Amino acid sequence: MPAAATNGTSNGSAAGEPEYEVIIIGAGVAGIYQMYRLAERGVHATVLEMGSDLGGTWFWNRYPGCRFDSESYTYGYSFSDELLDEWHWKERFSGQPENLRYLNHVADKFDLRKYMQFNCTVETAHFDDDAGIWRLHLGDGRDLSCRFLLTALGLLSAPTYPRIEGVNADGTDVFEGPSFHTYHWPAEPVEIKGKRVAVIGTGATGVQAIAAIGEQAEHLTVFQRRPNWCAPLHNSEISDQEMDGIRARYDEIFDKCARTPGGFEHEPDRRGFWNVTPEERRAMWEKLYGEPGFGIWMANFREIFFDEKANAELSAFIGDKIRDRVDDPVIAEKLIPTDHGFGVQRVPLETRYYETYNKPNVNLVDIKETPITRITPTGIETTEQHHEFDLIVYATGFDAITGSFDRIDFRGSGGVALRDKWGDGPVTYIGLMVNGFPNLMTIAGPQSGSASTNYPRGIEIGVDWVTGMLDYVWENGYTRFEADQDAEREWTNHVIEMYSMMLMRKAQGWFTGYNSNVDGHEKGTIRYLVYNGGAPKYKRRIDEIADHDYDGVSFATQRTAVGVG
Ligand code: NAP
Repeated sequence: MPAAATNGTSNGSAAGEPEYEVIIIGAGVAGIYQMYRLAERGVHATVLEMGSDLGGTWFWNRYPGCRFDSESYTYGYSFSDELLDEWHWKERFSGQPENLRYLNHVADKFDLRKYMQFNCTVETAHFDDDAGIWRLHLGDGRDLSCRFLLTALGLLSAPTYPRIEGVNADGTDVFEGPSFHTYHWPAEPVEIKGKRVAVIGTGATGVQAIAAIGEQAEHLTVFQRRPNWCAPLHNSEISDQEMDGIRARYDEIFDKCARTPGGFEHEPDRRGFWNVTPEERRAMWEKLYGEPGFGIWMANFREIFFDEKANAELSAFIGDKIRDRVDDPVIAEKLIPTDHGFGVQRVPLETRYYETYNKPNVNLVDIKETPITRITPTGIETTEQHHEFDLIVYATGFDAITGSFDRIDFRGSGGVALRDKWGDGPVTYIGLMVNGFPNLMTIAGPQSGSASTNYPRGIEIGVDWVTGMLDYVWENGYTRFEADQDAEREWTNHVIEMYSMMLMRKAQGWFTGYNSNVDGHEKGTIRYLVYNGGAPKYKRRIDEIADHDYDGVSFATQRTAVGVG
């Protein structure tokens, strides 16, 4: 517990003192938990949130069909037994409204809302070298300052619109009816029944939205550029009795999540792909395909991620499943990816997604064959025909991880812009700090272990580590820290090296920083956004760093002091 004099528990109104000891940007899953840890310590802190309320991803993504792909009971926070005991997850894979209710419940239970300021867009965040503090300028015209700045911006919070004539990068378009990105789906009900609806995009979001919209719309047209490999979610309700069983097993569940690379209950099969017969492999895949959740991806043989032949065999198995489920063989072939294998991009889990294409009110437009030429006032024009719609849905994804950083003008020591520093791709120390940007910690930033796991499991690791380092700073009376350049280089090289082993490096997905709608992020570029070593290895590494007095980080009591650590 830091001393009151150094942790900014009092309002920093004295001359030269920042207004806050800590500012957190973002009131989503990470920001809420980080605020809890700081409030527990009595640190003078605030959370600035762009949205009109808390919840991050679960506040914004209100599109039909939006739900967890993680087992609900592995997605909740694990820090409070009381919270675990009182919350009843109603579904194995809970839907957005319930998830948002959960996050509100957490914030209210621990009285965290009072620290949060909503409708606050941070436009600039500049490090003042002389004062050793961060100065923020907000969209509402206010200026705020803090000693330490923590970003909890979310991984997928910078939505991108398609670069097509008739729609602008900010989402405004020439279409005269309602149209929106799935991330900006309105809070008020949207009438789908009786409407002719278009969905552009078939990633994890599109796949959920398409199946749900297909149930209600008079007509649904899906515009697909590249299909994804999807697998069944197998959702179900959780009864009171089952929930009691889950509560009794929480320690075991979280222990298991902590042991697995992805932070899920699904443990990789370590027998070795080539050590079992093709018949055994097939039997195992049949079982996994019929089970709930990510098992078919995460409880599979590890070879599927780096051995082309192993991956091809699994992909052929999944391809046959798609053929079995889609009535029209021509449509089935269009839904089977040919440019990448199963699991090398993020696998969307689906509920009757493939069967949606068997419905008479649903059709698929393959825009590789007949590209979209423009959005028009009444619909979408392809090289083949004009389609009339009442509603257009852009399920066109995100400028992942770094996109939300790029939207804020971060400037470090000497006025260096983070956008420039990361111009050719991010460089970080353990995904949590950046050389040249003192007193900044990027919770779930690029290259952190938190980013590539069952999010709250990774987030708790990241937030606890960040809080531990702040404790260290306060206990030692430091006022400044910064990641060393060599340590940063070493970590970034380690992250890059790990990609070189994985088939993922060849794929066009957000794990490799691909986004066709952002300059420099298109096909053919690769940006090393995620740490692929798995959560246990990541935790071991960052704990080791903490145990060695935060090796790779320099600390000072004033700007010119010599670093230690
Ligand atoms: P995404 O995976 O990036 O998919 C975007 C889709 O839009 C792709 O099919 C893409 O086609 C298409 N697209 C983009 N620009 C286009 C254009 N100009 N013309 C035509 N098509 C275009 O994004 P997402 O589906 O929003 O998913 C992002 C991530 O969010 C997921 O990977 C997952 O991590 C997370 N997510 C999680 C859940 C969950 O937990 N249940 C649900 C939804 C999303 P190309 O592939 O050809 O570029």
